[in-house]
Amino acid sequence: MSTLTTESNLPAVIDDSATRTYWQAAAEGRLLIKRCTACCQVHFYPRPLCPFCLGDTEWMEASGAGTIYSFSKVYQADGQYTIAYVELDEGVTLLTNLVGQLEDASIGDRVNVTMQRTADGYAVPMFELGSNEAVSAGQCLDSNIGPLDSAATDSTSPSTTTTQPLAT
Ligand SMILES: [Zn+2]
Repeated sequence: MSTLTTESNLPAVIDDSATRTYWQAAAEGRLLIKRCTACCQVHFYPRPLCPFCLGDTEWMEASGAGTIYSFSKVYQADGQYTIAYVELDEGVTLLTNLVGQLEDASIGDRVNVTMQRTADGYAVPMFELGSNEAVSAGQCLDSNIGPLDSAATDSTSPSTTTTQPLAT
């Protein structure tokens, strides 16, 4: 679904019994979110109890597609990074980073998940600009469970590169 690249300055992840499933899926290029088995609402970050009704929750695989809700470029002495809120098509919002060609990035742009490798080997979901169409955000449908490769496979298509006029 996505290629792993190295971001050696990423902080270590918290890998415990509550998050291991999430990190294992991320290592396989799959982005997991959680859904309540009682009220059907999805949420992120993953929690063992639903934040809306305290019902039990289950994992579901997100499409990895969404839109930029907000972003900010952070400049440091040794480089820069772009922090962002990305709203997934499933309806949850992640605090994440944008990577890749971002000169033309705007709020509302379509993005796809791309896993970035930490120094200790974990894969962390970040997002790059994409031109994919929004997927159905239907909840509590069996078709929403499991691999959603139709949208995810677009991460390798040439359409994910943005055209940038050269300032020469
Ligand atoms: Zn609930």
